[in-house]
Amino acid sequence: MSAQSQNSFSYTQKIQLDGALGRTGEITTPHGTIQTPAFIPVGTKATVKAVLPETMGELGAQALLANAYHLYLQPGPEIVDEAGGLGKFMNWSGPTFTDSGGFQVLSLGVGFKKVIAMNEDTFRDDQVIADGKDRLAHVDDDGVTFKSHLDGSMHRFTPEVSIGIQHQLGADIMFAFDECTTLHNTRGYQQKSLERTRLWAKRCLVEHGRLTELRSDKPYQALFGVLQGAQYEDLRRKAAKDLSGLNEDGITFDGFGLGGALDKEKLGTIVSWLCEELPDNKPRHLLGIGEPDDLFVGVENGADTFDCVAPSRQARTSAVFTQDGRVNLTNSKYQRQFSPIDESCDCYTCTHYTAAYLNHLFKAKEMLASTLATIHNERFIVRLVDQMRDAITTGEFYNLKTEFLGRFYSAKI
Ligand SMILES: [Zn+2]
Repeated sequence: MSAQSQNSFSYTQKIQLDGALGRTGEITTPHGTIQTPAFIPVGTKATVKAVLPETMGELGAQALLANAYHLYLQPGPEIVDEAGGLGKFMNWSGPTFTDSGGFQVLSLGVGFKKVIAMNEDTFRDDQVIADGKDRLAHVDDDGVTFKSHLDGSMHRFTPEVSIGIQHQLGADIMFAFDECTTLHNTRGYQQKSLERTRLWAKRCLVEHGRLTELRSDKPYQALFGVLQGAQYEDLRRKAAKDLSGLNEDGITFDGFGLGGALDKEKLGTIVSWLCEELPDNKPRHLLGIGEPDDLFVGVENGADTFDCVAPSRQARTSAVFTQDGRVNLTNSKYQRQFSPIDESCDCYTCTHYTAAYLNHLFKAKEMLASTLATIHNERFIVRLVDQMRDAITTGEFYNLKTEFLGRFYSAKI
């Protein structure tokens, strides 16, 4: 039996956004459904730092995403497998995602970011990622050799290794192993890398088919192909056509990850190039994006799900979202604000605690500060994308976008 025939994974498109590629829909997985567009909070090591999984459910998270690289190093995928898979291991009954580890292993020691604030004319140098004495990772046509950030030990990921790890982790949605490039790379390198990622995608499908049969007693795991191509229209369109057309003995991708180097200025254009080429009946996940303006652009141009570690990471540094922009709770102006962080927020923190209390907790370096701030930030972003989904349904998307972004990015309180 092929992976596809025992597939309990599906996507249904519902309402299309007027004049754009945006849409609402529903993803069905063995652990429940996800109404899209949706923001998927990141629990890197099978935990959203400082917050109970139960609380993540209460604040509206429909699914959680963990990182294969981190769980491979600690505690090891075999432990998570023996525990009954990622969801069971962390007491999360809803859908789960894992990334392939590609971004983490390739970015080790390079320090590159998903979105790099620079334009196309900026200096490029393949040495940034091709090789280099101080790098912790080396990529070749077969895979990536890298040094653990924990103990310096050497490891190697290939497409087969990444898919094997992700099958052991047992998430509902997994991603193909890809080479993540940066905007620093030359066009020649991007082209070469894209072909490498295409060949790796084929190997991922073959291994995925093999493991799905071998582990047929486990719930079906969907595999998304990851589309690279940086800022080049022809390369991006080629990636989408190539990967959506792949069929290895009946095994095809269940959805797609929109990945790689994404210039913030061109984010919407790049997402639209990809979504124009992709089939309507499969979901699209925009990897590593979580800023409010980027989320609006992603939703408008056809992305269905998003993940980003930023809301929780920023919360732990006392940076929280409000309708009027991001603010820092350690600012002395909050010392006597005996009202919530954001009056319009319906999160547990805002309905039970004041900004003054959080200001005190952060200044006193109390652990509860991280918990309460993370609950607020995750709820803020989950709810914002939920509001975008509702607004597509009611025909109010563009009004919401103008109103929200106008207030969030202009007013400085
Ligand atoms: Zn709140």
